[in-house]
Amino acid sequence: MSEPAPGPILIPATAVRRRTALLARKISALYQNRDLTLLGILNGSIFFLADLARQLTIPFRVECWRLRSYVGKTTRSAGTVHGITKTPGAFRGANVLIVDDILDTGLTLAATRARLVAMGSRSVRVCVLVRKHKRRPHRVRADWVGFDIPDEFVVGCGLDYDGMYRGLPDIRVLKAPASPRE
Ligand code: 5GP
Ligand code: MG
Repeated sequence: MSEPAPGPILIPATAVRRRTALLARKISALYQNRDLTLLGILNGSIFFLADLARQLTIPFRVECWRLRSYVGKTTRSAGTVHGITKTPGAFRGANVLIVDDILDTGLTLAATRARLVAMGSRSVRVCVLVRKHKRRPHRVRADWVGFDIPDEFVVGCGLDYDGMYRGLPDIRVLKAPASPRE
């Protein structure tokens, strides 16, 4: 049986690199003379987090939470955030920047933000590589956005389908398999 596979390039690697450098400059400017804790949401943010963090010109800490709202061969959110009760790190009084791959329904980032506030963070901001253009059931404001994209399922730059394609350098639309001929 054939599977969905990466299709046309939506955002080329060169654009991702350029945009990440720009975001790093803006973030460095905002957190000048303030403590900063980057909170990466695994697994999707690994590449973006590493690329962004290495270009910051200010000191920072890094924490990571492993959260999941998609399970298995699906392109739809399951509607619950697994892992939100197991969230390590000291966030009391911290200025936290959540770094994630994509803002889709907003569920993950809304839950993450609420958890950080409950843990006593002083400020919580959000940076995502891509944001989907759609009505979101969970209202979340992203302070820094790499790219606004149409409401399509994308892979590459950390974004997966069933665990695959995270390492693709470009962001691509996932294509459904051609339907078999009768
Ligand atoms: P949200 O909670 O905003 O619905 O989505 C959070 C997670 O859903 C993202 O971190 C990502 O793992 C997954 N997700 C949402 N949209 C996409 C997409 O277009 N492609 C991929 N690969 N993952 C997505
Ligand atoms: Mg993710």
